[in-house]
Amino acid sequence: MSTAITHLHTALHLAAAGVPVLPLRVGKVPFGNCRACAKNVCGGRPNMKRAGTCRCPAPCHAWAAATIDRNVVNSPLWVAVWERAVCVGYHPGGARLTVVDLDNAAAVAWARESLPATRTVATTRGEHWIYRGVMGSHNAVRVGVDIKSRMSYARWLGPGAGRMVDLPSAVRALAGREETTPARGEVVSSLPERATWDRTVATGCRHTDGYVRIGLERGLTLVRSRVESGAGSQAFGVARFLAAQHTGCPGPCGLDVIGGEIVAAAVSVGVPEPYARRAVTNGLSAAERGAA
Ligand SMILES: [Zn+2]
Ligand SMILES: [Zn+2]
Ligand SMILES: [Zn+2]
Repeated sequence: MSTAITHLHTALHLAAAGVPVLPLRVGKVPFGNCRACAKNVCGGRPNMKRAGTCRCPAPCHAWAAATIDRNVVNSPLWVAVWERAVCVGYHPGGARLTVVDLDNAAAVAWARESLPATRTVATTRGEHWIYRGVMGSHNAVRVGVDIKSRMSYARWLGPGAGRMVDLPSAVRALAGREETTPARGEVVSSLPERATWDRTVATGCRHTDGYVRIGLERGLTLVRSRVESGAGSQAFGVARFLAAQHTGCPGPCGLDVIGGEIVAAAVSVGVPEPYARRAVTNGLSAAERGAA
């Protein structure tokens, strides 16, 4: 049997079991949109965050195209794409599941100590831990750990082994306030002390004051704009991005002060301080490792 037929066969099997599927291409990512859907000019699909009316018959809009309809999965348009697919993807949220994606052995070791045992599936370098229940998806909740559920896709690597259990609070807690909703009013009073970056804390930095300051302000604006959700993940990304600019500096560059400003920005939009600090610390150290 060719791999294309195997993928289609697997996909039909999953769809019949109520797991929405989509084809993934090289890089294990969804195929690009067709011309009519390019850059979302179609408005996007009805299940997306900004609901649109797209009814494109091709597997456009990544996870949002995932379906359990065998007539779609088996349609000539989709079959042509299965022929170019490298693997089968699925939409965990659509199957009422949450995948904790552990990227490497260190992340797996952490999960074994910290999370309730459930069904696990081996991946290239790590494991997927699959829980019954739905939550928001979050990248980099810790180093090497992503949560994939709503509005997300995961690679199908087989049914795995072990008894699946209900999504535990320990996993929801990884996503911080984005899954818990704190009381209003606590936010402002708990703003951490904020030092401001300037040359006196960055005696070994190769960049101009203006360069560092503009980059930092842009990053803080990004974090503060995430008033609905995602500020923690954004803080991680901003910390990593800004720290990466200094991997060539002899230092010190005042990265701890920059980190403190990012934490304050995240806390100002409601991220709990311990969670914000962890995201920023992880972001800063991810940049260091990226340079090594
Ligand atoms: Zn399309
Ligand atoms: Zn479309
Ligand atoms: Zn520097």
